[in-house]
Amino acid sequence: MIPKVDRVLEWEAVRALLANHPRELVLKAVRLVLDRLRSGARAGGLSDAAFGEAAVCAEVARELRLLIQPSLKRVINGSGIVIHTNLGRSILPEAAREALNTIAFSYSNLEFNLDDGVRGSRYSHVEALLCELTGAEAAIVVNNNAAAVLLTLSAMAAGREAVVSRGELVEIGGSFRIPEVMKLSGVTLKEVGTTNRTHAKDYLGAVNENTAVFLKVHCSNFAVLGFTKEVTAEEMVELGRQADVPVLADMGSGNLVDLSNRLPCPEPTVQDFVRAGVDVITFSGDKLLGGPQAGIIVGKKPFIEAMKKHQLLRALRMDKLTLASLEATLALYRDEMVALKEVPTLRMLTATLPELTARAKKIAGRLRHRTPDAVNFKLSEGFSQAGGGTLPLLNLPTMLIEVAVEGLTPNDIEARLRGMEIPVIGRINKNAFLLDPRTLQDADLDDLAAALSALAS
Ligand SMILES: *Cc1c(COP(=O)(O)O)cnc(C)c1O
Repeated sequence: MIPKVDRVLEWEAVRALLANHPRELVLKAVRLVLDRLRSGARAGGLSDAAFGEAAVCAEVARELRLLIQPSLKRVINGSGIVIHTNLGRSILPEAAREALNTIAFSYSNLEFNLDDGVRGSRYSHVEALLCELTGAEAAIVVNNNAAAVLLTLSAMAAGREAVVSRGELVEIGGSFRIPEVMKLSGVTLKEVGTTNRTHAKDYLGAVNENTAVFLKVHCSNFAVLGFTKEVTAEEMVELGRQADVPVLADMGSGNLVDLSNRLPCPEPTVQDFVRAGVDVITFSGDKLLGGPQAGIIVGKKPFIEAMKKHQLLRALRMDKLTLASLEATLALYRDEMVALKEVPTLRMLTATLPELTARAKKIAGRLRHRTPDAVNFKLSEGFSQAGGGTLPLLNLPTMLIEVAVEGLTPNDIEARLRGMEIPVIGRINKNAFLLDPRTLQDADLDDLAAALSALAS
């Protein structure tokens, strides 16, 4: 009963597909469907209709859709993890949309100085803005923070020693390890102190004629609690002055807004470190800053100038789309209240329990209205996380939406939602499937309702 490939290619619905898609792809889809029919027939239990023109054509069309769909696609983040590295870290502010749209589809003055009509530098575009926002003398932006650390160490310490506390030899997810990056930049790591306690005298004791920098690394994704002692940025600057050694800080998340009265676990701001006199500071564009993937370096002019001339820079350079969206994101930080409202990462992180409760009620109400009776919603208090290796101790109170579907386990719900055309990512806790309104976007609700309705059928 299994139709021959040639015959399937003659059927009208498949001929219509051939008119719009490469023959090889349609053929591949047909073969996949027929192979499946063959194994189904062997296993038994297929109805006669499954071998008919209508059923086969529908399957071929579905298979073709799967073959041509992009690999990188939008997902709905119901996990409550705001800076979810696996889901693309930060989503960009609306202001970046227009900037991207303009710069992506037009020529631009990327490396053209419009005042003098001569070649310009792509690095000049956000430098003034970064200096204005952070108080630094100079700035440069590269591909990501890992690249920023690599460039900084290469330009300031290659062939020499960098002094780092044993409590700050961090590994960030995706195999970024401070000792490895050092090796790669040709810098010798001089470890001082212990895992839990490092003192000022440890830094000074490590200084010799080959010492190039003191490096401070932000413990982004872990915390050491108990009997601890850390040398602060201010103290390190003072030590650097005494020993005539510049101080670098890899801040990791690098936020520009003081969140101490909004979050129980505040991070120092980049401005704090600049004010303290740290010579060079690096941080990510897509963590707490809430912009595109980028590595931002701010600091004293002579150091940044050396980086601008460094050979590595060409290999680490950012592209114009990053530049366009970064400039638009940074511009929002000129007014802190605007940034808190317009930068999605900041907005989601600082959303309060009463706000999220109201939001959970609204979303659950609308979903109840638009899904079959077999899908049930219940609200329960819980916690969201910042994610992205930032604020590891922070549990943000939220109001969760528990989704139950008759006849499905929480694991079934999780797997099916993840397999949807627009995947929905939630989480399972204590045998319940949960969606967190903190990371659900208004624009997600129609597709979320459609996905949940499909679960019941
Ligand atoms: C995240 C992080 C990095 C890596 O930044 P990317 O932008 O992901 O390359 C480096 N150092 C610290 C301390 C970090 O937190």
